[in-house]
This record gives sequence, C-alpha cells and structure tokens, in this order.
Amino acid sequence: MPVTLESRYDPKRVEPRIYAAWEAEGGFGSRPDPEKTPYTVVIPPPNITGALHMGHALNNTVQDILVRARRMQGRNTLWLPGTDHAGIATQNVVERELAKEGSSREQLGREKFLERVWQWKSRYGDTIIGQLKRLGSSCDWSRLRFTMDEGLAAAVAEAFCRLFQKGLIYRGHYLVNWCPRCRTALADDEVEHQETDGWLWHIRYPAADGSFSVLVATTRPETMLGDTAVAVNPEDPRYKPLVGKKLRLPLLGREIPVIADPLVDAGFGTGAVKVTPAHDPADFEIGNRHNLARIAIFDEDARTTREAGPYANLDRLEARERVLADLKKAGLLEKTEPHRHAVGHCYRCHAVIEPHLSDQWFVKMKPLAAAAIEATRAGRVKFHPARWEKVYLSWLENVRDWCISRQIWWGHRIPVWYCRSCEKVLAARSAPAKCPRCSGADLRQDPDVLDTWFSSALWPFSTLGWPAETADLACYYPTSALVTDRGIIYFWVARMVMMGLELMKNVPFRDVCIHGTVLDDQGRKMSKSLGNGIDPLEMIAQYGADAVRFSLMVLTTEGQDVKLSPSKFEMGRNFANKVWNASRFVLLNLEGLGRPELALADEDLAREDRWILSRLERAVTRTTEGLEAFRFNDAAQAAYDFVWRDFCDWYVELAKSRLRKAEQAKDPAAAALVRRMLAYLLDRSLRLLHPVTPFVTEELWGHLNAACPDRECFALAAPPPAKRLMLAAWPPAQPARRDEPLEAEFELIQEIVREVRNIRQKTNVPNKEKVQLILAPEKGAKLPDLAPHLDLIAEMAGAAPPQVRPGIEGKPEGFASAVLTGLKVFVGLGERHDAAGEKTRLAAELAEEERLLERSEARLANQSFIAKAPAKLVEEYRAKRDEIVGRIQALKKALESL
Ligand SMILES: [Zn+2]
Ligand SMILES: [Zn+2]
Repeated sequence: MPVTLESRYDPKRVEPRIYAAWEAEGGFGSRPDPEKTPYTVVIPPPNITGALHMGHALNNTVQDILVRARRMQGRNTLWLPGTDHAGIATQNVVERELAKEGSSREQLGREKFLERVWQWKSRYGDTIIGQLKRLGSSCDWSRLRFTMDEGLAAAVAEAFCRLFQKGLIYRGHYLVNWCPRCRTALADDEVEHQETDGWLWHIRYPAADGSFSVLVATTRPETMLGDTAVAVNPEDPRYKPLVGKKLRLPLLGREIPVIADPLVDAGFGTGAVKVTPAHDPADFEIGNRHNLARIAIFDEDARTTREAGPYANLDRLEARERVLADLKKAGLLEKTEPHRHAVGHCYRCHAVIEPHLSDQWFVKMKPLAAAAIEATRAGRVKFHPARWEKVYLSWLENVRDWCISRQIWWGHRIPVWYCRSCEKVLAARSAPAKCPRCSGADLRQDPDVLDTWFSSALWPFSTLGWPAETADLACYYPTSALVTDRGIIYFWVARMVMMGLELMKNVPFRDVCIHGTVLDDQGRKMSKSLGNGIDPLEMIAQYGADAVRFSLMVLTTEGQDVKLSPSKFEMGRNFANKVWNASRFVLLNLEGLGRPELALADEDLAREDRWILSRLERAVTRTTEGLEAFRFNDAAQAAYDFVWRDFCDWYVELAKSRLRKAEQAKDPAAAALVRRMLAYLLDRSLRLLHPVTPFVTEELWGHLNAACPDRECFALAAPPPAKRLMLAAWPPAQPARRDEPLEAEFELIQEIVREVRNIRQKTNVPNKEKVQLILAPEKGAKLPDLAPHLDLIAEMAGAAPPQVRPGIEGKPEGFASAVLTGLKVFVGLGERHDAAGEKTRLAAELAEEERLLERSEARLANQSFIAKAPAKLVEEYRAKRDEIVGRIQALKKALESL
C-alpha cells in the first residue's frame, strides 16, 4: 500500500503528538550502563523567574543537537535538566507582588515570606520547562532538579563545610559592592559597569596650619565626609615636601594627613586624591596599608549616617548637592569639568552600586583558581572556539576573593552558627543542638544566604547525587560537554571547574562550547526596554519548532553572534516543506518493493546512483565532523545541501523520469532499483537531519517504516531501522562510496543545466519546448568527461541531446551563450533570441564575476587570514580566483563578439 501524506506539512498538528510519544515511550531516559560509553550534558539551569527567550532557544537547540546525535551514535546519553532558584531575581519578583497587595517581606517576616516564595515557585517555576519541551529538548525529565531541592541543599551545606574546614571560606569586614535597592552585597562580576557622563570636581583642602593647600579632584564630592587622608604618588615632585603634613577637611574640620601611596596616578586630575576607605575599593586598600580609620557615611539604603555630621540622613544625591553648595559658599570649589567614567550598576535592578563596609563571607579564590588554570593548561578542559580559553584564563589569573553572602532571604541559608555564650563560630551540615565548645544551647544561625552561583557551581555533580557516592556519579561524571553563552564564563563556567576540581578531584566537563549571542537584525542585544525581542514560542507557533531550530543553527557560525529577524525562520520552514514534499513523492512510489529483492548489487547502479551515494557519503562525513567540532552550522549546512540540492532537486527529479521510462518500457526491475534507492536515501536523509529538525523527520520516519520497513540496500555495516528515529543509529561512514571524479562530472552537469534553465527562464521558453544545445569546451581546458552524461543533461535541461563542439570561435546565429570555467554553453533560441537582452544578461554576469573577483582578491590580500588559514584552503581560494579570472576573460570576449 502506498503511503499518502497530506499535501502540506503542518508542524502545529505534528509536533505536540511526536513529543508526547517520545516522552511516553521513555526515549529520553538514561540509566548507568557499564557496557556503554556515557555522554552527559547538564543543562545551564534557567531561572525559575525566566520565560524562554531566543538565547535559551539557541542554547538548548545546540544541546539537543549534541545529545540527539550522540544518542544515535550509540552513547548512553544523559541530558540532565533543572532550574535555578535565582536568589535576588526571585525575591524581587515576590516582593513586587507583595507591594501590589500593600504588604512587604518585612511585614510578613522571614518564614512567611519564604512560604510565599515557595508558593510562587510551585505555580510559575516550571513554566520554562514546558517551553523547553515545545522546542523539542530531549532531556531526561525524570531527573529534573532544582537548586534548592533537598539533595542540592545538602550538597551546598557539604561544600560549604568542607571549604570552611580547609580555610577556603572565611568571614571578614570588607568593602563589598552593595546594592542599596536590593539591600545586599553583590559579587564583583554582578556589577555592570556603564560609561556615564559625569563631572570632575576640584576641591581645595587647606593645611591645618593654613600654610598651604592641596587641590584634589573627585567624581564623588559627597564622599569627602568620610575622608581620612589625601594621597599622592611618592614619586610626584610637586607633592613630595607635603607628605606627612596635616590638612583640615573642609566642611567637617577634621585633621587628615597627606600620605604617599604608589597606587595614586600622578596623571589623574591634580595628582592628589582624597581617600575614603569606607566607600571606595582602591581607597580601602590604601587605608589598609596606612592604617587609616574607616568612616562609614552611608547606611544600607545609601543614606548618610550620623558620621556625616550636619549632612546626616540624606539621600546620596541630596548629600552631593548640599556638599557642593557649601563648598562653593566657602570658596573651596575651584573647578568643575565634564568627565566620562564607568559607574557600577546592580545587574538585577540597575541601581547604582555603593561600595559598603560590612561583615561578609568570602571564598579564597587563589588556590582554587590555580588548580583550574593548571587543568585547563593541561588540556583537561577545552574551549570551543578556542579563543575563549584566553578570556577565561585571564579572569582566573586576576581573580579576587568571592563574596558569597547575600543579605536576602530566598536562597541557601549560610550553614554557620554562632554560640551566644562563648562566641564560637561553627559550620555544620545541619542545625547543631549545642555548642561543641561550651555545650551551650543558645546558638544563632547566620541570617544571610549564599550567592546563587555558589549552588550552581556544584551543578554538574550535585545533580548526580553528590555528596553520596552514587552509581550516577560513577557513570556520568565528569560530564562531556557544557554549552553556554560567553556572558557566564566567569559567573559559572570557571566556578564549576574550581569546585569540581576541589570537591570531586576532577574537572566537571571536558568540552565547553561557547555559542554566540542572539542579536536583533541591527546587531543590538534583545531587551525589554528596546522592545526588539523575538519570542521563540511565537516563532514556533508560526513556523514550527524545526524551523526555529534549523534557522538558528544555520545562522550560528562558530561562536559568532546571531543576527535575527522573524523572517529568517522562513528558511527553516521552507526546508521542512521541501523535505516533506520530496518524502511525499518517495512514499507514494514505494509500492511493490518486495523484501526478497532488497539487496542491491553495485553493478546494477546507474551513474546518478553512484553519484548520489558519493554525495551522501560526503554529507555524512561533513555532518559528523561538524558535530564533533561543535561547528553546528557546518553540520546543518552539510545535511541541508545534501538533502535539498542533491537529493530533492536532482536525484528525485531524475528518479521521476527513470520511473516513467521504466513504466513505458515495462521494466519492473529498473523501477524497483530506483525505488529501493529512494527508500534508502530518504532513510539516510532523515537520520542525518534528525538532530537539527527532530519533529518532521520523526514523523516522516514513521511513514517510511509503514511503507517500507526493510530498506537496507547494501551489504555494508548498515544500521537497521528502529521504531523511532530518535533511537535509530547514526549513518556509519562508508568511505568506499566516495567517487570524486564522478562528483566533479556532476558538478559540471549541474552548472550547465542551471545556465540553460536560467536562459530559458529569462527568454520565456515554454517548459515543453526542447531547445538546441551546443557545448564548446575551450582549447586545452581540463574538463570532466561529459560524454556519458549527454542524455542526462538533455533530460534535466529540457533540451535535445547536446552537440559537443570543442574550440568553437564566435557564437552561432540565434544562440544565447553562457560562460563556465573552460566551457561555453550555447542555447538555441531561434527567433526568440534577442541580442540586446543577451548583452544585458552577459554584462550582469560580468559585473557579478567582477564583484566575486574583488572579494576573492581582498581575502587573498588579507595577510592575517593567509597566515592563519591551512595551506590547502589558501590553495583552494587561489584556484577559485584563477577560475573567476578565466570566466571574466571569456565573458568579455563573448560581449565583444555581440
Ligand atoms: Zn539591585
Ligand atoms: Zn559555646
């Protein structure tokens, strides 16, 4: 029975049904299996506050392609999903909800507030999981984890205690990045620095005895209320005599010293800077070196404290205005000049960061970073593309201690208790009943929670059951590849490597694939404020998930950013339709494919059969290599080129006419051969395309199974069909199928046919009309042998069998001409021939070739490209340039002869 497909592919109808079947049949699941090599990927856990955006769509498509391909290659594949509690972000969301109700977290109290957040999580926290399924993600959903679930909470406590006992976690009174809006400390990399137009104010500080004065320049005059010194560079001759003398701080009148510190840049401003150890990181260090007092003039809301004297209880900006006004009145404000400088903002709420002195917990990073650097240098963690390794290493080399405490409520509570009786500080995996030193029971837990990235740093092993020694850990750790965006190389990738090495004594993954960032078509980041985001769910609804995945992959060149507009997804949709239509023809024609005759002998094959098998082999190799090397666009492009150009446009077209002829000649054997080839090629095409476009290929696979369950044609190591394509085997390499000379012959045939079709179309030759064709190889041109292919050319070009006339001079009357490398093609148009039109057409072709030449020469003139590119590639580019030059000469001649 022939299988008849609907005439149009409708992803809306097909995709949810296919996904449900995959899930119901347990195809995504993985269990430890000592017989099979594992392939593990842990998902970058999306925030529970998140909704799927294009960045997620790209990130998860890449992961899904990797795991689907590996699954087909027979690996024990695990893609482990989960979500992140996203401390500050989630707390902000729930706080906003409370504010709408006229309440606040303070009113609710810690316990009730946390209940509220958990409620919010259970209602909205898995929204994004459903969206990932819509995209086709083949995660093992039975293993879904959450960074605050019980097991992961235990892992966090364990990690904290081990690092604490080793002295790698400590508590200190330090200057941290403080967000006065979120009222919490932030890690250095959670601060976003934005170039901002500001001012540089020059303020005169008089000597205590009135004998001299010093001019200081500052961008934050209000902080002078906390000044405890003025610093100059020790080498600066202007100030050398003043070092050690006393100044009188304007407005407050306190005496402060002039000190010399090498950190001061003599070239900045006046060369003398005010020192505010409690409110500036550089000043904090200077203060430590010189034993300066730290006077905190801002509180946790960034309002001035009592230390600010008459300026107490003001907002930061008000304080600035009042200070400047009073300085002006006192005649101490000498100059105000515009000044552009970087200002730190909170990455969550974008409030201006205030350096703030407080008690915080820190991770000592140097020893952890040293291990991570060593492992990377030894090649145990590899970046793709390799250029990101440098970025990652330079961050590790310059890393500062990591502030891990956050003054919020939603997160892992710091597992530290303080004894009220003897002041002992102890870290424990669970709440201790009594103090181990004095046996007192009056213990108080630290109120802070840990930075969200502390739990995500453990993700590759905490999700596999650590600290318990589980079979999962033994099987799946280290994981195989991590797929992420460059934006979190520091936040996440580096910290996972450090924690993996410290706690698991092994790297967490072997490969790190850094993909590009999705931008709008003008190259801008997509953001809510610009309103230029493209919603992947809308695109899936409109074009289908396969189309979204395919277009994203074709647009992703090795880690380059992806410029996107909704129309780009049409390419993916057109491709899915093309595959659907070609399959429709194949499936309609599979009738009468008896099992016993399935074996195909090589000697039965026609030239085009051997050609398409060679092309298939090339596509399998290129797709496999592209996936191995994390070059997803190469992999997608190779599969696309084969299926669209070679299979659909050529082979299927040729097959149609062969089937017609076999029927006319009543030759069932010839027809059966074509059908067997079609079934075999469709089978291989679907396998190759499956990782990128899983839905349409799975749907077609089902129909192919129904029409032709047994379709292995060649006595090679060919994988048998499986019920589900997602569990079918990846096509094995068959190098013996490659036939380079035959491919070269077909390439020329295709070019000839394309030119003839082009001329036919431009001069409106009706489809049914056969044109005369003359092929004129140039003298001495090295061309593939066309003799065996003349019938095929005639067939595809809609021409009479072509005449081959080498070395023809000029152009036969009534013929249009086209110029290929080493070959002229003449198409007989008779009365239709229009010399003026011909001239325009050839001139346009010449212009196009000249443009190509310009591009090609620019590339060859690019020294850095030539130096880096493999010699073989450069050679290819040179040969291409020479070919263009040859065509340009021939085109010019053809134009002259008109
Ligand atoms: Zn904030
Ligand atoms: Zn005690």
